[in-house]
Amino acid sequence: MSQSPLAPHVLLVEDEPAQREMLAYNLQAEGFRVTQASDGDEGLSCLRDDPPDVLVLDWMLPGVSGIEICRRLRARPETRSLPVIMLSARSEEVDRVRGLEIGADDYVTKPYAVAELLARVRAQLRRVRPSTVGQVLEYADIVLDAETHRVTRSGQLLKLGPTEFRLLAALMEKPGRVWSREQLLDRVWGRDIFVDTRTVDVHVGRLRKALMALGGDDPLRTVRGAGYAIG
Ligand code: CA
Repeated sequence: MSQSPLAPHVLLVEDEPAQREMLAYNLQAEGFRVTQASDGDEGLSCLRDDPPDVLVLDWMLPGVSGIEICRRLRARPETRSLPVIMLSARSEEVDRVRGLEIGADDYVTKPYAVAELLARVRAQLRRVRPSTVGQVLEYADIVLDAETHRVTRSGQLLKLGPTEFRLLAALMEKPGRVWSREQLLDRVWGRDIFVDTRTVDVHVGRLRKALMALGGDDPLRTVRGAGYAIG
């Protein structure tokens, strides 16, 4: 299943397979892109390779604990404001306080109702990515409307192919962020399709041309050895 690059990304770190899969299924059904990790170390490498918009983190994990992951995230400037929802089987108030003290944004006690957890994920997302609510992304004079599939620059409609549209959506989701070719392949073409990384360069070239077709500077940035960004 290929998902829109606009789909908000949730990383789920939970060691109990049944719980993790049930939650992943429900999040995907709600339109989220979900990455699953079954222990602390896998969670940390997912955080590094494909940073999510929201992290759902189990407290008790094999290897690096949820508490320790949260502490590390808060110590780094680039992940300091990443929304973290802690899950825990512990229900005592002291643990709740401790969870919030080490920097979790929310705390849910097991067993929880899936609907409630989904609502909390959405609440965190509204805080960090309000743009996904209306499905309209804006950068400088460029406006991308995901519902109508239209892109305008200074109010003028641009002609973009479907791949260029998804590529632009992925880049505009986080202006300034540099995406590697591999990350763009995952987000735009999907993880299961074999496409050469040079294909990314070809489509970035087409996107550049389309964005400048009616005038204006090149908004895309090529970062040597790293990848591409908008802004
Ligand atoms: Ca656990």
